[in-house]
Amino acid sequence: MPAMINLYSDTQTQPTKEMRRAMADAPVGDEQRRLDPTVVKLQDMVADLLGKEAALFLPSGTMCNLIAVKTHTQPGDAVVLDRFGHIMRHETGAAGMVSGVILELIDGDRGRFTAAQVEEVTPLPSVYSPPPTLLCVEQTHNWGGGSVWPLGQLREVCAVAKKHGMATHMDGARLMNAVVASGVSAREFAATVDSVWIDFSKGLGCPVGAALAGSKEFIERALRYKHAFGGAMRQAGIIAAAAVYALEHHVERLAEDHANAKLLARGLSQVRGLRLSTPEPETNIVYFDVSETGMSSYDFTCKLESRRVSMVDIGTRVRAVTHLDVSRADVERAVEIVRDVVAEVNSE
Ligand SMILES: *Cc1c(COP(=O)(O)O)cnc(C)c1O
Repeated sequence: MPAMINLYSDTQTQPTKEMRRAMADAPVGDEQRRLDPTVVKLQDMVADLLGKEAALFLPSGTMCNLIAVKTHTQPGDAVVLDRFGHIMRHETGAAGMVSGVILELIDGDRGRFTAAQVEEVTPLPSVYSPPPTLLCVEQTHNWGGGSVWPLGQLREVCAVAKKHGMATHMDGARLMNAVVASGVSAREFAATVDSVWIDFSKGLGCPVGAALAGSKEFIERALRYKHAFGGAMRQAGIIAAAAVYALEHHVERLAEDHANAKLLARGLSQVRGLRLSTPEPETNIVYFDVSETGMSSYDFTCKLESRRVSMVDIGTRVRAVTHLDVSRADVERAVEIVRDVVAEVNSE
């Protein structure tokens, strides 16, 4: 049987041999007591990469968002973000459940909104309105198809937030994809916000882990919630080592994933009945609509799965994501299989 071409998500990567070796060889200690040398090294690397005073290693990106929202807000506050933001759609209500905040949603353009839209939802202080105290941006925007916030637009929306006394947070699960795609440094993007995190288990190819960065004072307060939410670990250097390895070896290669996503989008756009939401993907995520083929997105992904190509149906669309374990040849083969599946349905 041919190997699965796994375009389901960039979370599907297997740690490479070299990454596994780095993990096996890592010096470790008690992370809770700040005595794990590999975790300390990783946190220093991330703080430096993002130009922040301090960073905190956490088990997941979801926990980074959870802790950041908790640290920046009080119950009853409003958090401003895009309608399709991960914090809204994919974290099972955690912000409301744990921080007691309400979410003030903006209709962005593939996840990116404007300074004027932030002004619109930021009322003058009044006893009637929940005070908006936090603005969240997502770089790149997952639901938006890996769209990249331009640096200028980020600066503008964050300046409005600052003017209203709000804190700013960047869900940078795929910040490094934005960096590689745009040529803007991680520091420049991160300088627009008070807190920011990157995910190691997405395009960077690690089995687990993420790191949240901000001021020393912010990270000290975040540390309390890390413990409270069960995120404090022990000999965590064994997983932090994968992240250190990834920052050293897996960042520049993201350009290959972006080239493969463009190739995939181009191939799919030539299949009759497929409509690309992202004809020219900016990074590694491709979204398309299959309704003109007569199939539902679910039927389509099931048919692909039986031909050993994995994609995911999200609402009425299908998402495909390129990563470390998907080669150019895999992308070409996936396009052929999609073409066959659509042709078969048309001839039924
Ligand atoms: C994956 C993802 C998260 C959550 O990260 P996990 O490590 O899976 O918990 C948050 N935000 C965005 C934009 C993501 O893509």
